[in-house]
Amino acid sequence: MDMDSIVSLCKRRGFLFQSSEIYGGLQGFWDYGPLGVELKRNVKDAWWRDMVSGHDDMSTLAGAPSPYAMEGLDCTIIMHPQIWKCSGHYDLFHDYMVDCRETKKRYRHDQVNGRWVEAKGKKVFVTAPASDEEQEVMTKRALKFFGLRNKNIDDLKWDGDVVCLTTIEDFGEVLGPDAKEKGTLTEPREFNLMFKTFVGALSGEEGAAYLRPETAQGIFVNFKNVLDSTRHRLPLGIAQIGKSFRNEITPRNFTFRSREFEQMEIEFFCHPDESHKWYQFWRDRRLKWYHDLGVSSDNLIMREHSPEEAAHYSTGTADIEYAFPFMAEGEYGELEGIAHRGNFDLRSHMEGKLDEKSDTLEVQLGDDGKPKWKGSGKDLSYRDDLSGEKYIPHVIEPSAGADRAVLAFLCEAYEVDEQPDEKGKMQKREVMKFHPRLAPIKAAVFPLVKKDGMPEVAKEIYLTLKKDFKVFYDEKGSVGKRYRRQDEAGTPYCITVDGQTSEDQTVTIRDRDTLAQDRVKIDELASIIRNRIES
Ligand code: ATP
Repeated sequence: MDMDSIVSLCKRRGFLFQSSEIYGGLQGFWDYGPLGVELKRNVKDAWWRDMVSGHDDMSTLAGAPSPYAMEGLDCTIIMHPQIWKCSGHYDLFHDYMVDCRETKKRYRHDQVNGRWVEAKGKKVFVTAPASDEEQEVMTKRALKFFGLRNKNIDDLKWDGDVVCLTTIEDFGEVLGPDAKEKGTLTEPREFNLMFKTFVGALSGEEGAAYLRPETAQGIFVNFKNVLDSTRHRLPLGIAQIGKSFRNEITPRNFTFRSREFEQMEIEFFCHPDESHKWYQFWRDRRLKWYHDLGVSSDNLIMREHSPEEAAHYSTGTADIEYAFPFMAEGEYGELEGIAHRGNFDLRSHMEGKLDEKSDTLEVQLGDDGKPKWKGSGKDLSYRDDLSGEKYIPHVIEPSAGADRAVLAFLCEAYEVDEQPDEKGKMQKREVMKFHPRLAPIKAAVFPLVKKDGMPEVAKEIYLTLKKDFKVFYDEKGSVGKRYRRQDEAGTPYCITVDGQTSEDQTVTIRDRDTLAQDRVKIDELASIIRNRIES
């Protein structure tokens, strides 16, 4: 997999465009083009159908401790600012950044790597943005810094391994990633990742509000509403798909780290005693979802967080990670996190912001001596009708990024092979091998030639299939070229109307992956395509 080829195919074929491109773009923001919007919609639809609307709540799914209910929700992006105080985002949702006084550039503290190097009797910590090529970049920068030529590369005496800038205490001897002089980086400073806005005509702090940095909190604060309106017993999962915003310091790696992105989140409410079993269930279920949609197990891992990494209230957190081509060899990027959140969020919204470290109530007093960030004061506990037991449910949270899932499916689908053209000459073929459920276009319809009544029949087939699937009609160029265009778009089936069609009402259907061509009856086409997509 080569990321540059994938990025260029995405632009050329209309999967992804840089936002505001004609004005030079806006870093960290991306637009989905005609093929991209279909792909992303299919990813979200697959998630919604598999997790929510199509969920079998009558039986016990494999690995589940019991049957459970699932419901959906769609909350606003701007919510009461108190929510972010009680959730901890207001105080804790920040990254550390360092500024360069010389270049005016800003870097995320934990995303700059460096290495000590000595030459001409001087020693400096030379840095570069963390990447596959960091050593190469550091070598070039060290040569320049010491005024050495390439042929004197052996004069550079490296000391120790590449380490993260976070391990360096004094920046006096640090050469910033783009600086000419050393010692130009500022001390790391906290930077809250929430986008701030103002509601109504109030422009001061009174009107301040935030674009949600996750969809989850909307679910917690609506837990009681959903429970009361649906009359479900626990266990109950509440799902939401929607936009989230994070003012990332260094957005990068195509859509992987964007400032505006979409999440697909479930908050699963259950009895505390059962919660660990449910955690295991959701880990396995969510990993299987990616496999079922065609992500190979070679590229996907489940990484359990170490106890130090996980929040103290969490008795388990695992990330599903994908081997994105822009990651260094053997490294993976997070697609989804599955966290056991205990009763932390519901309690915070009941009682006020909890202290992350001790799980006790942290009462911060305002100038008037009253608690500053109190919770809603509403009882968010659950009483079981049958047993009469009352408790604050524990929550398992599978939280996935729709854009990262799309990116993984794009990377996974991309292949280059060689196929013979009409003259039998081998030609390079770029093909997107999407799972048929995810493919932006399900089938393309071609007349073999633009005469003998073939376009008329092909158009009729196209219009009929269009009622059920996203289909594409193409009569331009040779059939071979039309196949190639569909291969690049990831269309799994190409239907060709040829000379035989008028005789026996059959067409050929060509499979993108096996290249097999079957002859099938026109009136069976819709059901054949449906069966193949679902299988
Ligand atoms: P990271 O460590 O990569 O910043 P995170 O652990 O902060 O991610 P979560 O808060 O767990 O992410 O969010 C859940 C999911 O939302 C992530 O697994 C990811 O798929 C998606 N996500 C989070 N931040 C971004 C972003 N900036 N751009 C795109 N997707 C994101």
